[in-house]
This record gives sequence, structure tokens and C-alpha cells, in this order.
Amino acid sequence: MRLLPLLLATTAVALPAEEHAAPAAKAKPKAAVQASAPATHGPAPTADAPDSPSAALAELSAGNARFVAGKRTRTLDSGRDAAMRAALVGGQAPFAVILTCSDSRVPDALLFDQEAGRLFTIREAGNAPDLQGIASAEYAAEHLGSKLIVVMGHSSCGAVKAVREANGKSLPGNLWALQAGMAGLLESTPQDPNEDAKAHLGRLEEANARRQAQAMLDRSALLRDLAAGEKLWIVPALYNLASGKVQFFKPLAAVPGPLPHH
Ligand SMILES: [Zn+2]
Repeated sequence: MRLLPLLLATTAVALPAEEHAAPAAKAKPKAAVQASAPATHGPAPTADAPDSPSAALAELSAGNARFVAGKRTRTLDSGRDAAMRAALVGGQAPFAVILTCSDSRVPDALLFDQEAGRLFTIREAGNAPDLQGIASAEYAAEHLGSKLIVVMGHSSCGAVKAVREANGKSLPGNLWALQAGMAGLLESTPQDPNEDAKAHLGRLEEANARRQAQAMLDRSALLRDLAAGEKLWIVPALYNLASGKVQFFKPLAAVPGPLPHH
């Protein structure tokens, strides 16, 4: 006897779901027609890719301005999705590498308003690349022809905050690697006597983006050679969670060849 109300309840729950399913099934033929149609809502993802570091930076800057204004154009039309995939099956030529934090509030493709095929993204907490992160950037710059590497920190970064608050004491688990990746940050950017924790964190986030960009250049002869030849810019940047705005800093100066011994 007790089972009956339960069964009824289950049936009652299932009914609305079936009702929802019906319109979706009807919509399928229309979606299929759209998928096979050529892209009529703009250029293919690789068709208008910037071909110089300065043009790549201008494109990201313009895309971010669209995002801030709530006027995205490249990532707004889901009717282009199938055409976008089709255009990219044969290969990729992302014009920029974005090295940023894993923070879920930093949606790199949206905030630069760039669809698939245009950004080569490396994400690690605290935007502190390990060797594989650097190798990924080298692959994009050397093999895929990316013209720009943006090393982008962000406001309210939990990784930088954790390293700041640990203040040299070991964080649990493998989180020590985060601290190792930001080694020297706290010493380079100490808290001013009249500065509160929030303001200090903001300065640490900027300093970390700059230091990680420089570290990437220092650890990669391949990237140094490309940057010294003006084929590649490495640009530190900071993303503001509240405004959506990205502040770009100056491209790093690079000298080719091995680093002098200290
Ligand atoms: Zn973060």
C-alpha cells in the first residue's frame, strides 16, 4: 500500500519532463538545416585572424571592450556553432595564447569575445605556468603561429590570496607547488604599513602577472628568440572581475639567445 503513493509521485515528476522533451524533438529538423548551411553570420574563425603582435593585441582589446559594453558579436550567435566546428576540423591557427588562472570567473573566450580556433588557452591556478605550461605556449608560438602571449592575472585571486595568507608556511596537499610557482612574490611586493589586506592583494595580483610573464620569457629560449625578432609579444595583464575590463601592460623586452649567467 505504501508503494502506491510513491509510484504516483514518480509518475507525476516524469510527466513534465516528457512534455519538455516533445518541443525539443520537434525543433531538431530545423537545427539540422542550420548546421548544414554555410556560415552567413560573419567570417570563419580563422579567416580574419590578426597577423602581427600589435594587431593581435588590438583584437583582444576590442573584443574585451565589446564584452564590457555587453555587446559581444563573435561569441553571441549559437547558430554559427556547426559552421565554426566545420571550419576548424582541418587545423587551427590561434592568433593569441592566453595564460590565465583556473578561476571559474575568468571566462577567457567570452571576455575577449573570441570563438573557438582563435585563442590557445593555458590555465593554472595563480597563472603560474609550470614547465608544461611553458611548453604549451612554445607549441602555440612555434607550431601554430600565435603572435601574442597574454599572461593574465585577475582581481580577488584565491591562489594569490592563499599564498599571501600562508606567508611562507606550507599549504596542504600539493598546494606547495602553487607557493613554489610564486616564489619570491611576497618578498618582491611587501605590504606597506598603511595598506590594508585587500589593497596589498591587488598589488600582488599585478606583480604576479608581471613576474610570471617575465619568468616565462626567462625560461624559454624559443620564446625569447621569437619575441626579440618582434614575431611575438608577451604581455602581462589583469582582469577585473567586477568591471570585466582587462588592463594590458607593456610587452616585455626580449634579448635573443641564452641568458647571461648571474
Ligand atoms: Zn585566480
